Amino acid sequence: MAENSKIEWTHHTANLWWGCTKVHAGCDNCYALTFAKRVGNDIWGNDKPRRMIKDVWSKFRKFQKEAEKQNEVHRVFVGSMMDIFEKPMPLVDHDGNPYSEGESEFWNTGQLRDKFFNEVVPNSPNLMFLLLTKRPSNINKYIPESWKENPPKNVMFGTSPVSQETANKLILQLSEVNGLRFLSVEPQLEKIDLMTMVNDETDRVLLDMVDWVIQGGESGHHRRPFDTDWGRLLRDDCKKKGVPFFFKQIDKKLEIPQDLLIREFPTTKTEILNLKKTEMKTKMKKLKCVTVEELRVINDNSTKAKFSATYDIDGLINDGILSDIPDFAYSVQLCMVHENQDGSSAMRVYVSTNTRFKSIILDMTEKDYDGLFKMKFRVVA
Ligand code: SF4
Repeated sequence: MAENSKIEWTHHTANLWWGCTKVHAGCDNCYALTFAKRVGNDIWGNDKPRRMIKDVWSKFRKFQKEAEKQNEVHRVFVGSMMDIFEKPMPLVDHDGNPYSEGESEFWNTGQLRDKFFNEVVPNSPNLMFLLLTKRPSNINKYIPESWKENPPKNVMFGTSPVSQETANKLILQLSEVNGLRFLSVEPQLEKIDLMTMVNDETDRVLLDMVDWVIQGGESGHHRRPFDTDWGRLLRDDCKKKGVPFFFKQIDKKLEIPQDLLIREFPTTKTEILNLKKTEMKTKMKKLKCVTVEELRVINDNSTKAKFSATYDIDGLINDGILSDIPDFAYSVQLCMVHENQDGSSAMRVYVSTNTRFKSIILDMTEKDYDGLFKMKFRVVA
């Protein structure tokens, strides 16, 4: 799985900078800190600078090219030696010399983060960026304003709880972020119950907030114990909730029991695009909820429509096609997928126009899909 990364749940890792400050008990044996010290970098702590990684931008371009060539989506973990949502910190080069304002293009980590958000993410459609942070309350502070309304489909926001207390706190903070979300429950230090109610006056549980769960115990000389029953609990709860589950390790020494050797990933857009029609039929039956963000009819009599849609297939939030015809905009009230009497699947989209306040129903059946998963709509009411 990991081509350039030793981390099993990603294809690649990339770091905009090195350095961080410890946040909670999960950081006690931070491997990144140990590694940075070993190579002589003094870059950990609130009073220390961060080391800029200059070649990361060419790496992103290379990752994108490779994934595009293979017509795949590759996961990129950003980053293993940093926390991307840390507050802006001053930058130094690999010898510890500071980059200063006015003399260098970049002199703090916030500038690197902005460049990544504004230049790399939009230009990397074949990469799925996994932005893992122990500071999820900072995400909305630092992402581009436009992402709050329209989160990029090639970014997953993640956080790392290690105990029930950190799970309750960090997952609630993560849930404030619009977009795909995941957990890396690592290094897990005690039993965590993700079926715990979220303290937000709804009946949702913690697991309802995320689209993927990675779990693992600690490795290394100072590893703390992991109970495989903690793994079974998350495995079973993820199954109940239909959330993909990835069990990474007990401690990298002990063999993973067969019943825990589950390594699921959220489905990627390209994987969906590559599905054959017959496979699509099976997938469609699993389709639970579709949210069309905007729908534009080509003309009043047309039987076709193009749209911008977000639809959820096996945990994947996917994109539709946006028409540039401006005349008829509809807002969606409800979407459902149902099975017809002949066994075929259909998606029914209930919409109302924002100009005429009229409800229409669009039925979409299997035959309306072509091999590339473009959809055609038929106005039936
Ligand atoms: S947040 Fe991550 S990189 Fe930073 S100290 Fe903790 S474990 Fe290390």
